[in-house]
Amino acid sequence: MLQIREISKSYTTGDFTQIALDKVSLNFRENEFVSILGQSGSGKTTLLNMIGGLDQYDSGDLIINGKSTKKFKDRDWDAYRNNSVGFIFQSYNLIPHLSLLDNVEMSMTLSGVSNREKRRRALDVLEKVGLKDHIHKKPNQLSGGQMQRVAIARALSNDPDIILADEPTGALDTETSEQIMELIKQISRNKLVIMVTHNPDLAQRYSNRIIRISDGKVISDSNPINTAEVSGNYRLKKTSMSFFTALKLSWKNILTKKGRTSLTAFASSIGIIGIALVLALSNGFNQQINSFESGTLSNYPITISQSSASISQPSTSTKKNSSIKYTNKPAVYSYDSSKNTAAHTNKITQSYVDYVKKIQPSLLDAVSFTRSVNMNLLKKSGNKAVPVDTANLNLGSYPDKPAGGNYFSQYYHLLAGNLPKDKTDLVMVVDEYNRLDTSLLKELGINSKDGESISFDKIIGKQFKLILNNEYYKKSGNTYTVNGSPNDLSNLYNSGQAITLRISGIVRIKEDTKTPSLSSGVYYSDQLAQYFIGNASNSEIVKAQKEADYDVLTGSSFSADSGSPSSAGSSGGFGPNMSRSTSATGGSTKVSLTKNEVLASLGSTSIPTSIALYPKDFDAKQKVTDYLDKWNAGRKASDKINYQDLAAMMTKLSGSIMNAITLVLIAFAAISLIVSMIMVGIIIYISVLERTKEIGVLRALGARKRDITRVFNAETFIIGTCSGLMGIGIAYLLEIPANIILYNLTSLKNVAQLNPLHAAALVVISIVLTLIGGLIPAKMAARRDPVEALRSE
Ligand code: ADP
Ligand code: MG
Repeated sequence: MLQIREISKSYTTGDFTQIALDKVSLNFRENEFVSILGQSGSGKTTLLNMIGGLDQYDSGDLIINGKSTKKFKDRDWDAYRNNSVGFIFQSYNLIPHLSLLDNVEMSMTLSGVSNREKRRRALDVLEKVGLKDHIHKKPNQLSGGQMQRVAIARALSNDPDIILADEPTGALDTETSEQIMELIKQISRNKLVIMVTHNPDLAQRYSNRIIRISDGKVISDSNPINTAEVSGNYRLKKTSMSFFTALKLSWKNILTKKGRTSLTAFASSIGIIGIALVLALSNGFNQQINSFESGTLSNYPITISQSSASISQPSTSTKKNSSIKYTNKPAVYSYDSSKNTAAHTNKITQSYVDYVKKIQPSLLDAVSFTRSVNMNLLKKSGNKAVPVDTANLNLGSYPDKPAGGNYFSQYYHLLAGNLPKDKTDLVMVVDEYNRLDTSLLKELGINSKDGESISFDKIIGKQFKLILNNEYYKKSGNTYTVNGSPNDLSNLYNSGQAITLRISGIVRIKEDTKTPSLSSGVYYSDQLAQYFIGNASNSEIVKAQKEADYDVLTGSSFSADSGSPSSAGSSGGFGPNMSRSTSATGGSTKVSLTKNEVLASLGSTSIPTSIALYPKDFDAKQKVTDYLDKWNAGRKASDKINYQDLAAMMTKLSGSIMNAITLVLIAFAAISLIVSMIMVGIIIYISVLERTKEIGVLRALGARKRDITRVFNAETFIIGTCSGLMGIGIAYLLEIPANIILYNLTSLKNVAQLNPLHAAALVVISIVLTLIGGLIPAKMAARRDPVEALRSE
């Protein structure tokens, strides 16, 4: 039971308002065949659209089974169209890329009928309209009459109460028209059929009620009814389209334009290809760097030095300074560097040294302690004995091998002599070219010119005498001096207490050694240093120095024991160089030292100024640094001991350079991604234009706005997935030639390696970006007015 009450509808275009319906009131029976006659432009289609809920009235009311539709929302209208109304159009309005069966099933799909039931009902109605044999054909494979039959089948499929037909035979020849009219007549036996026609003859012959309208007004009604209100419970089943249906719909649509879609997908995959290749390369290079590092850099030592380990950080006042940068004020500003840097001093203690010594020996290739003790060394020069300038010898201790064995045996070639056995054996290290500095040779008593060759046996067996502190120094007044004449220390040299040190061997780093080599010079064992320090710490001069608040060697005062411990130990890491260059005997320098430094140089303490740990490999290094980190856990900042991990610093550096390059390249590739996103937007926009009719049909069948968005989102989803997969596939293919080229250029194997995780992420990015690109056109599509959409051609 359908009633319309005083419905009005007008269209405004520009300044002109066209009243299409003017207070039309009509009642319809549950089953009747109503024909609406009228001239073109009289408002017939408008009336039908009002009844069908395809368009909304301006004023009045449409009452369905006693229920007013005044308060209907979009969703209610959608459900009403889907459940209660079947449309038949003059131009059939079938969805061209779907088979007959799919076309007929569509409105049932929207209302969520199960697949099997859908199929059964569709076959049933298709049989009724006589098309059972054609169900898999596409609409364009049918004649006009057949297409209209499909449209009728579709209108019937959801078993609606009302069939609305807008000039259903307008495009058909007479004979076919009559067949279609017969079909509609049959339907009207148990449904309300309202048919618009401008053919009075057909109306007379088939319908049982004729309403004529003119200029939007009903001018005659052959069989009017006046009904009492029928109240009933009118319930609507809400419609919705599943994403899968949307996908299927769009997939079938895309299949009709495979060429264009694959071109689009390819074009938009270029950005993905770019990013994938950049990622593959950077991934590969990073792996190369890592393996290079784990191979090469693992043997770079972890160094712990007493000097500040953390880089000085500019403190707050520097910021203030930036405001007077390039100032024009006629003034200079004072700047206390010690206040403006946050330096950290590692306070290496005996317990820390013990802690370090407890590192599992198997993790370390070598351990090197640098001590700032000054050994009292004498040498023979002609008939005389004179002090050795240890700086010239580049004297230092060689690393220990905690796991046992000799440090040199692993990484060095023995060129002459023997590896050190006793603690008194010294080792001469030469560089890759067997070179020694002329000043070093001179210190050995060998005068040479640049480039001159010197035979090994002139060096092997060279002797020095180590004199213990108590022997070496004698007290004179308040200070200590060397016990002997400055020109000849033969007494000390020949004394029974003097310890003979001997260069036992000459070594050179092996060709492909990963560990950094010691700089060329003379090296002694750490046991010797410990022995000397053990003795020195009880020596008179050390005791005296501990008491005195001036330098007992020079008589000069100390510099403050401030936080700039720049002098002690060369903390670079590789050349464990113990000499402080201020030899007490060989003419003291002008550098003023702190008390602690003087004490250390005299051998008062066995605590090293720096420790270098050479891990066995990358994993061992990790374990060692973890172990060292454990020491700091829970300690005050000032008590923390920071180590320097050269390899890690280099790793970080090369890693961050790589990352920077990667970022730049990705930025470029991202631009093409954005471009493709816009392109997809355009493609979808075109698709929306092309599918306008389909939008109208779907809306007429009860699809919600949201469903329309979903259809187009499904399309972008498909394009995005295709372009993502295509991009990844092409990128994987391009890796092959890229790797061949890189191998030829750099002899690095398999540099380009796309991480599967990255690949997956890129596909997702592609989908997301295309979805974003298609979002606006999809929303536009949803907002299309269904009536206009149907009108479009
Ligand atoms: P009929 O189906 O009887 O030929 P319509 O119902 O299509 O007539 O149109 C009735 C009147 O409303 C016509 O004058 C037409 O121009 C006008 N009209 C219909 N739809 C619109 C619209 N979307 N915008 C402006 N005018 C419209
Ligand atoms: Mg019309």
